[in-house]
Amino acid sequence: MNIHEYQAKELLRRYDVLVPHGRVAFTPDEAAHAARKLGGPVWVVKSQIHAGGRGAGRFADDSSGKGGVRVVKSIDDVRSSAAQMLGKTLVTRQTGPAGRVVRRLYVEEGCDIARELYLGILIDRATSRITIMASTEGGMEIEEVAARTPEKILKVAIDPASGIQPFHARRLAFGLGLSGKQVGAATRFILSTYRAFTELDASIVEINPLVVTGSGDVMALDAKFSFDDNALFRHPDIDAMRDESEEDPAETEAARHALNYVRLDGNIGCMVNGAGLAMATMDIIKLHGGEPANFLDVGGGATTERVTAAFRLILADPEVEGILVNIFGGIMRCDVIAEGVVAAAREVDLTVPLVVRLEGTNVDLGKKILRDSGLPVVSAKDLADAAEKVVAAVRTHQSKKGGK
Ligand code: ADP
Ligand code: MG
Repeated sequence: MNIHEYQAKELLRRYDVLVPHGRVAFTPDEAAHAARKLGGPVWVVKSQIHAGGRGAGRFADDSSGKGGVRVVKSIDDVRSSAAQMLGKTLVTRQTGPAGRVVRRLYVEEGCDIARELYLGILIDRATSRITIMASTEGGMEIEEVAARTPEKILKVAIDPASGIQPFHARRLAFGLGLSGKQVGAATRFILSTYRAFTELDASIVEINPLVVTGSGDVMALDAKFSFDDNALFRHPDIDAMRDESEEDPAETEAARHALNYVRLDGNIGCMVNGAGLAMATMDIIKLHGGEPANFLDVGGGATTERVTAAFRLILADPEVEGILVNIFGGIMRCDVIAEGVVAAAREVDLTVPLVVRLEGTNVDLGKKILRDSGLPVVSAKDLADAAEKVVAAVRTHQSKKGGK
């Protein structure tokens, strides 16, 4: 789960990490009020969306060339900037061409920036360790720094047995070219941010830029947190920060039904039980020249309602041109799957080919339910057969559509 910048800063503040003062606003009047409360003379009005690159981003249908982060010097300009941003679509390198609608703003005090640095904490899967990354190239996307000048990224991996030690943080501070009292400030900053990362079960914390101010303070000017969804039950206050308008509605709907669903770019919808089989199904679709439209694991003990919800989700994706149901019924019963598929297919007008491979408990009953349903189901005998059939069926479906 991701949260907004202002929420990330609120969490950092709890850990005594230095961040500028700021207030959230949902209307231009609230933005002006926030600015008045903060006091001037310089404010920064920041679009809150779950994507970076806002400063360099541009608003759709706006030729002013102004971005999603604006430095202003009067309350009137705070208000007019807010009016220009709220309700508008901001397109950044991270949003893709569709962009995202700005629904909230963060009004922050202007900061006197001497240097812009980068700090990231993440779990490095190659070493299975929490790794801290730092760079002197703050403000730029770290992926770009990694591609062009990888030597400018410092990495420190933390041994889980010892946890972070002050020397880890000092090594990074010196690597960033800090000296004097800034070393102590950066060390405290890194230790506190690391503590926030581990105690809050984050999967990523990114501070870009981390700035050294004119007076030598070390401060987070931007902040991004991602959390491990499986640990959110331990953090109801963070779960409450969820902004559903920033999430894929299909994935929100899936979570409501306890389905593991991830939308992908292809056109073959998949419904599978078990994450391993779901991965294998996607692989074999690709092996046969197709592209999966989603990952979907209905789980072990799914009910008819859950299967119906899953099937509805697949059908709601306009890119789907064929569906592959692949079930190995161990705990999951094939007749339950079949009933769910039939119920959902009846509800919506099924206009794309459906290939079903069922195996395991109550398989004969499941197949009978599908046969008796009158639905145009193509049945497959095994995984390879199923993949081959669905890829072929999608091609036929496309050529029919194209021929119309
Ligand atoms: P994004 O990464 O989405 O573009 P940032 O929060 O990093 O958004 O802001 C972009 C840039 O705007 C920063 O690199 C910094 O130069 C400037 N900026 C952001 N917040 C402030 C602030 N409070 N005071 C002064 N400059 C700021
Ligand atoms: Mg940033």
